[in-house]
Amino acid sequence: MTQPTNQPMNATMSNPNTIARVMPETPMFDVMEGAARIEKRVLDHGFVALIDCMPRMAPVGKTADFSIVQSARVSYGEGTKQVNEDRGLVRYLLRHRHTTPFEMVEFKFHIAMPMFVARQWIRHRTANVNEYSARYSIVPDRFYRPSLESVRAQSGSNRQGGEGLVDAGTAEEFLVMLDRAEGLYKDYLGLTEKGVARELARAALPVSVYTEWYWKCDLHNLFHFLSLRMDPHAQYEIRVFADAMYELLKPIVPISCEAFEDYRLGAMHLTKLEIESIKSGKPLATTNKRELAEFETKCAQLGIVMPVGSPAKSPA
Ligand SMILES: Cc1cc2nc3c(=O)[nH]c(=O)nc-3n(C[C@H](O)[C@H](O)[C@H](O)COP(=O)(O)OP(=O)(O)OC[C@H]3O[C@@H](n4cnc5c(N)ncnc54)[C@H](O)[C@@H]3O)c2cc1C
Repeated sequence: MTQPTNQPMNATMSNPNTIARVMPETPMFDVMEGAARIEKRVLDHGFVALIDCMPRMAPVGKTADFSIVQSARVSYGEGTKQVNEDRGLVRYLLRHRHTTPFEMVEFKFHIAMPMFVARQWIRHRTANVNEYSARYSIVPDRFYRPSLESVRAQSGSNRQGGEGLVDAGTAEEFLVMLDRAEGLYKDYLGLTEKGVARELARAALPVSVYTEWYWKCDLHNLFHFLSLRMDPHAQYEIRVFADAMYELLKPIVPISCEAFEDYRLGAMHLTKLEIESIKSGKPLATTNKRELAEFETKCAQLGIVMPVGSPAKSPA
C-alpha cells in the first residue's frame, strides 16, 4: 500500500517494496478551474473546446508554464535555478528552439469543423486524432455556409487564396449551389434507411459538411500548428479555429504564449541573401520574382527602403 509522504524520495525508497506517493510541496490549483470543457463557438456550426491539459494542476501563484521550467531544469540542473527566473528561462528556451521542455505540456481539444478544414488540419502529423466515424454513425445535418456578404473572390496575386469579395449576384449564385449540395443530405438519409451502407452513402456529401474530432497535441507542435494556421496566408476558415484555440490556451500558459508572440508569431526570418542585401545596400542576388516580392514585404515591415535595383514584382 502507498503512503502519502513529504519525505524526500531517497528516504522513502530505502525499502525496495515501498511505493512513495510524494505530496506537493505547495498547494496546487486546477489550471482549467474545475471546468469539464472550455468552449468557443467558431463559424456557423463549429466549436473548439478544451477538454483537458497536462499539467492539469499547477502550484498556486504559478501557471502551467511551470511544467516547462521543471523539465528544463532536469537538463540544466539546480544551478540554473539561481540565475534564471521562470519567465526568463521559458523565453530563453523558446528563443533558442529548445523544444523538448514544451513537449511536456499537452492540450486535448474537441473540435467541430467543416470537412474541407479538417483536410488541411490533418496534415499536422504530430497530433493524436480520433474522428467521428461516418461508417459507424449517420453524419449530422450541419453544413458550412459563408454569409452572402463574405463570399471571397479568387486572389489575382496568390493562386491559393481569396481576396476581396465577389459581386452580390455571383455570391447569391454560389449560395444557391451550396443549397443544391446540401440538398443531397435528404437523399443520403433516405438511401441509408433503404440499406445503403453508411460508409458508402457518405460519398455523396459535400466537403462543407461538418465533422468532429478529439485532437491532442503538445505545446511545441501546437505552436508550430498555430504559427502556420494563425498566419494571414492560412485560409480564413481554418484561421478562425487556430485563433480560438490560441485564445483558450493563452490563460493556461501565458508566459509561453508571450514568448511565442515575441519570438515566433511576430518575428521574421531573413535569408542569407536578404541579410547580405540589407548590409551591403545592393540588390537582392536573385531574379526569382516570388523571392523579390517576399523581400519587398519584409523591407516594408522593417520600415527600410529596399535596395535600388531589386525589381520586386508580384510572383507570376
Ligand atoms: C498556407 C499553407 C498552404 C499549404 N498548401 C498546401 C498545398 O497546396 N498542398 C499540400 O499538399 N499541402 C499544403 N500545405 C500543407 C503543408 O505542406 C504541411 O503539410 C502542413 O502545413 C503541415 O506542416 P508540417 O509538416 O510542418 O507539420 P506537422 O505534420 O505538424 O509536423 C511538425 C514538424 O514535425 C516534423 N515531422 C513531422 N512528421 C515528420 C516526418 N514524417 N518526417 C520528418 N519530419 C516530420 C517536421 O519538422 C514538421 O515540420 C499548406 C500549408 C499551409 C500553412
